[in-house]
Amino acid sequence: MTDIAQNLSNVRERLAAAARRAGRNPAEITLVAVSKNIPPEWIRQAIMAGVSDFGENRAQELRAKYAEIGELAKWHFIGHLQTNKVKYVIKACHLLHSLDRMSLAIEIDRRARKLGIQVPVLLQVNISEEESKFGVTEAEFWPLLQEVAKLPGLRVKGLMTIAPFVADPETVRPVFRRLRELSREATGLSGVEMSYLSMGMSNDFEVAVEEGANLVRVGTAIFGERPI
Ligand SMILES: *Cc1c(COP(=O)(O)O)cnc(C)c1O
Repeated sequence: MTDIAQNLSNVRERLAAAARRAGRNPAEITLVAVSKNIPPEWIRQAIMAGVSDFGENRAQELRAKYAEIGELAKWHFIGHLQTNKVKYVIKACHLLHSLDRMSLAIEIDRRARKLGIQVPVLLQVNISEEESKFGVTEAEFWPLLQEVAKLPGLRVKGLMTIAPFVADPETVRPVFRRLRELSREATGLSGVEMSYLSMGMSNDFEVAVEEGANLVRVGTAIFGERPI
């Protein structure tokens, strides 16, 4: 049986230690528990153990969990979002980590304005330019940022990346460092905020925290290997 409370306390300790190594305050880092494929019962256990933020990567699953658990948690959308599924997540979503193209931004903007809301988003950057990953390349990043900044229905709050999965997380430190540099370069651009750096997963969150992450997305280290 997965001991969620025990796993959480391990993750929190490692997170705090990484923060201290970097001279950072652990309290400025939000742990987003990635609950994709994880049943609502386990999510409730994590809530009981003090988790406030959850990440989902499928639109219908986010909608279903929001319907069941709702405002007891903050819901982050971290997956590739198809334009025709924006309607499922737009109201439930506390933060969309995965804005990766203008057509998606336009659809979010259209729906957000209808609802009279502003959707907080992070731009997903594919720093390592892995074929298998979504997200814009650095070359595509600047034009997308400038265009998205003009849309009243979205609010850019920062950047997100997924590092390649490697045996030694030290290898991907430059990926996290580069995202932080981009964020610094984008700071001060009109119409955008660079408050959040979403980077780090079970395999590499300590390195990401050392490099400045303030949102880490951790699934397996909390819930164990996912069913399915
Ligand atoms: C699944 C997923 C995670 C969590 O991965 P773990 O290795 O289980 O911690 C984080 N970010 C994204 C975008 C994911 O899809």
